Amino acid sequence: MIGSVGVALCRRVPIAELFAPAFRRAGSTLLHPSEVSDPEAVRFALCFLPDDNAFAPYENLMLAASIGAGADGIIRCPSLSPQVPVVRVEDADQANQMAGFALFHILYWHRRFDRLLEAQQEARWARARSGRSPKGVVVGVMGLGFIGRRVAEVCRQLGYAVVTLSRSTPQTPMDGVRHMTLDALYGFARQCDIVVGLLPDTPQTKGMLDADFFAAMKPGTALIQLGRGGQVVEADLVAALDGGHLAGASLDVFAAEPLPQDSPLWHHRHILVTPHTAAEATTDAVVATVENAFAALMQQQRPRGLVDRDKGY
Ligand code: NDP
Repeated sequence: MIGSVGVALCRRVPIAELFAPAFRRAGSTLLHPSEVSDPEAVRFALCFLPDDNAFAPYENLMLAASIGAGADGIIRCPSLSPQVPVVRVEDADQANQMAGFALFHILYWHRRFDRLLEAQQEARWARARSGRSPKGVVVGVMGLGFIGRRVAEVCRQLGYAVVTLSRSTPQTPMDGVRHMTLDALYGFARQCDIVVGLLPDTPQTKGMLDADFFAAMKPGTALIQLGRGGQVVEADLVAALDGGHLAGASLDVFAAEPLPQDSPLWHHRHILVTPHTAAEATTDAVVATVENAFAALMQQQRPRGLVDRDKGY
């Protein structure tokens, strides 16, 4: 990719500002669309949430790369030609960030920090004698992809019982982890004490975490949603919490982002809200993703992190 010119396409993140220096150090140029004088010379696009017509001026694109692990906003962009390969970041550091973030919330709901914090407010010494061992706690990881696998691994290492869910049976099974496929969605929900949502945003996953799913979850369990917001039917979640069926939820992603100020989720006493901040790819990982993809495409090989546009992830 040395010497190539790229364009930054995103309506929310100032990608050119953030990443141009790193691309310069790697010997290429990343421009804001307003700086592009010759659109035909642009070979790659670095994107997150591109506007509908963002790709239109660039007819010689060889690659569209996401600055993150998700590429849903890119592959749905109507101006992106179906011929352009799309890659996303697959980065061990990002997976570790996600595993740490997930563990924080797993521990929060497993050890009922909500109750401990309430007790602290009342200066009440709420020491309980049981329920501390992870052995009896089933963590359900929805999505056994690059990140889901790391989350499952780390939970296993801490002694949690882990059950995973994906569309297909994994080629490399994980030791000590029970795997289920999508046809057993409600059977999966029935087993879990804590569900960690790590699915990509696709037409199939939209609204998947709905009233039926929550009803299938055991009473007193919790949801940690880190994949994409559209998977959760927010009104159904609130109803499951208000009805006392679920103990709580940690939500990092939302149907509408930024979460609107008048959303009831902000102030719900059983919900922890974070602003889509669970994990992010480092600048180096983003540059490496583009570099590796260029090298692979030159040799007619499959780039790392290539998105299957038919599957949607
Ligand atoms: P991958 O693409 O590597 O893996 C996706 C997994 O989801 C695969 O195991 C796939 O199954 C499974 N899957 C897809 N559709 C379904 C379905 N309908 N039912 C059941 N399983 C399904 O993704 P990653 O692990 O790298 O990342 C997961 C998601 O996390 C990203 O798409 C992104 O949206 C989100 N993310 C959020 C961040 C945050 O800050 N909150 C940061 C980074 C990522 P199969 O193996 O059978 O193909």
